[in-house]
Amino acid sequence: MTFIAVAVPVARADQISAALETARVAKQQGADLVEWRVDSLAQEPGAASAVTRLVQDAPLPCIVTVRHVAEGGGFCGTDEQRQQVWTAASTAHPPAAYVDVELATYLSDSEAGERARDMARLGRLGGGNGPRVIVSFHDFDGRPPGLSARIAEMWSDPASAVSKVVWTARTPRDNTEAFEVLAGRAKPTIALCMGEHGLMSRVLAPKFGGFLTYARSDAQGTAPGQPTVEELVQQWGFRSIGPETRVYGVLANPVGHSRSPALHNRWFRDGRVDARLFAIAAGPTWESFKATLVELLSLDALHFSGCAVSLPHKLNAIRFVEERGGVVDPMARSIGAANTISVASDGTLHASNSDLAGVRDPLLRAASAQGWSDGLAARRALVIGAGGAGRAAVAALACAGAVVTLTNRTAARAASVAEELNGSLHRNGLSARAIAARSLQEIDTRDFEVIVQATSAGMSGGEGADDDPLPQAAALSSDMIAMDVVYTPRETPFLRRAARAGAHVVGGWSMFVAQAAQQYRNWTGHDPTTIDDVVDTSAGRSAS
Ligand code: NAP
Repeated sequence: MTFIAVAVPVARADQISAALETARVAKQQGADLVEWRVDSLAQEPGAASAVTRLVQDAPLPCIVTVRHVAEGGGFCGTDEQRQQVWTAASTAHPPAAYVDVELATYLSDSEAGERARDMARLGRLGGGNGPRVIVSFHDFDGRPPGLSARIAEMWSDPASAVSKVVWTARTPRDNTEAFEVLAGRAKPTIALCMGEHGLMSRVLAPKFGGFLTYARSDAQGTAPGQPTVEELVQQWGFRSIGPETRVYGVLANPVGHSRSPALHNRWFRDGRVDARLFAIAAGPTWESFKATLVELLSLDALHFSGCAVSLPHKLNAIRFVEERGGVVDPMARSIGAANTISVASDGTLHASNSDLAGVRDPLLRAASAQGWSDGLAARRALVIGAGGAGRAAVAALACAGAVVTLTNRTAARAASVAEELNGSLHRNGLSARAIAARSLQEIDTRDFEVIVQATSAGMSGGEGADDDPLPQAAALSSDMIAMDVVYTPRETPFLRRAARAGAHVVGGWSMFVAQAAQQYRNWTGHDPTTIDDVVDTSAGRSAS
């Protein structure tokens, strides 16, 4: 079993009651160990009796740590002060379960080093009557030089009980090195990556037999990459992660805002699929995208089984799968972009584009609600926007039998995309109606039964956050379906106008859920347990 530990800093004796309460709450939420971080307290008068109280009253087995400033802590006192804390931790009734000592101190010729090694021998030999020693090493700047040698040194020491190495991940690739450390361990080991790239190492520690992972209590504010105990237990299903758990990702740059992890992990949980999906910041270039995927695929024991791909890597996804001799779905090839990579059981990679299903499925539901018995077949549809989302919308509608017109702020781009899609859909053996292109000025919206707003106009934080790409005079009506691909905010200027006209509106969140559902089908072979009522938890909204 991999323990969940909560590190609670205690700077002064008057903070003990609050610290004990934090540990009690963490225990209720599922923590197994509390680490008392007494870096500052250790330098206060009366530190020994304060530490004794912390250890004796702890609601969980505890680790006592006095972290030196040289390793990112707050302790800059004397060896004597540090040893007083260790004595208190050892002589409390019951004693602390563990005392953490940094490798540099543990190996030193100083009195503290000797004392630490004695404590380790006693803890190891004393049948549980004294704390066992965790020997640790931290690097806040990045991967420590000589990592393997340091770990080998820790493992070869017969007295210490646990080896711990923690460093700041510079890229998602550092996680796999942490997993390799755990997989090759010669004694109980903690290998974790800090920072925004390190979440995977924390959540997947049980998959590789890590001794513990750290989580924070709700009261402790945020720490990049460190989940709360509740998130770890409830959302990540930490207790059921094992060696066979499959791993998926969403690769994008930036990726922090992605809703894919929350959505897919909920579906995995509800569908009892032993898999987890992580947000993975792949870096903006082809090289970083490729290096990230190569690393994830190279560690067999990770069981990396696929990923969602978002901007700016949808083209790179096709290139990568082609380079690895995989299969590119004809639709993804036709639009020149893939947002899904799946790894088959024989290792073959497949690239596909679920944005099509993202547009098609909600529109088909809307068509059925309108009483259109043939779905979208022969319906006159207008797509505004000739970027990635626009191309997917055009292809989805044309292949569903709609009569599609494409328009765009830059008219020439609409013309070239329409021409290209007419050729590529045909070339890739897909049956689709011919696509026309017209300038925005030529468009009379009354000619259309379906309008898809597929530009980034209306997107919060973007350049055209308040824009509606249609001219003011354009008329919308109650017998139309109006869809927006933008999902932040839920109500865009275009959708507000459509709703005022009484049109059947379909929001971008529905597209997001539908395209994710298609990815889930590709990966698991099953439908997600629920689609229609999926709540956008980040904004407290439900999909329509
Ligand atoms: P893209 O490839 O960069 O294309 C952007 C498109 O928007 C171009 O057609 C551009 O026209 C047009 N545009 C930008 N600002 C405009 C404005 N103020 N007025 C009129 N047109 C404007 O982007 P994309 O990948 O297609 O993404 C477009 C939107 O779709 C984004 O908001 C994205 O988040 C959203 N999206 C949603 C989902 C979902 O699941 N709901 C999936 C994919 C994308 P020009 O050619 O004239 O520059």
